[in-house]
Amino acid sequence: MGDRERNKKRLLELLQAAGTGNAHCADCGAADPDWASYKLGIFICLNCSGVHRNFPDISKIKSVRLDFWDDSTVEFMTHNGNLRGKAKYEARVPAFYYVPQANDCLVLKEQWIRAKYERQEFMADGKSISLPGTREGFLWKRGRDNAQFLRRKFVLLSKEGLLKYYTKEEEIVDWFNALRAARLQYLKTAFPEFPESELVPLITRKYLKQGFMEKTGPKQREPFKKRWFALDPQERRLLYYKNPLDAFEQGQVFLGSNEQGYGVYEDLPKGIRGNRWKAGLTIVTPERRFIFTCPSEKEQREWLESFQDVLSRPLTPLNLLSKMHSLSFVLSAKGRRQNRGLTGFSWEP
Ligand SMILES: [Zn+2]
Repeated sequence: MGDRERNKKRLLELLQAAGTGNAHCADCGAADPDWASYKLGIFICLNCSGVHRNFPDISKIKSVRLDFWDDSTVEFMTHNGNLRGKAKYEARVPAFYYVPQANDCLVLKEQWIRAKYERQEFMADGKSISLPGTREGFLWKRGRDNAQFLRRKFVLLSKEGLLKYYTKEEEIVDWFNALRAARLQYLKTAFPEFPESELVPLITRKYLKQGFMEKTGPKQREPFKKRWFALDPQERRLLYYKNPLDAFEQGQVFLGSNEQGYGVYEDLPKGIRGNRWKAGLTIVTPERRFIFTCPSEKEQREWLESFQDVLSRPLTPLNLLSKMHSLSFVLSAKGRRQNRGLTGFSWEP
């Protein structure tokens, strides 16, 4: 076996080697990466390798399978690898920082990779962009490739004597993470007794199911209205919106557990008829019942299963507290949300 074949075999073994973390992309976690940065000593997926190519001073890319690897480079990869890379470049990622996954958009991945290796923001002795003695603002910067002036956010790091500027994408991801930081701060204030690790998953809402249903009002004689519903299993809330992209929900229902007397039924109560849609659902809570109609029997079944899933889960201590006071951000200028009081749910007809 020649050097070429032997070294390729060593690399392929290294990809699978236990305790190295090499079986997943060092940056986005995608399975079976077959590219590597032989300057950083990490294995990455094709997508992430495309980002690395943009800063050759810091990272240099080779294909594990297609390129030639000499002995010393294979040796270097063996002594580094993804777990060691993470220990070095992700030593102090802030809890709120959104770490992108394999199926996230490229902008998020690109900014994560740049923050990690190019700006080295998360290294133990790394540069922090929120140091005192910084100044930021907008300036017009002349473009590199043409004479156009572009509006850019600049940050002056006086401690390091460095003036750096943000591209549009960096700025967007910066805002995204700043909002996450603000939300985490809010959660910490609302729930001081809970460790950060339990609050971080609440920064982002992940819905078990979303879709249109029709609802009636509290008297259940009001005409059915079409609304967009989203079921948040973590906070045990069914939220509804006039339109899918509305920033604020019109109302929400807290979903307790079966043991507490909450239930869901695949029908409408006797004497109640939907508007256009016939496939009905009834949620019963200790306080009252909520009535919906679904656009199809398939939707009805999916909602039913999703509600049953949430109702069958035992309440966490956080759930109990969040029923007492709404977890939602207080952002509305009109005071609409603040007026909701401490009831834990609201239902506006
Ligand atoms: Zn990747």
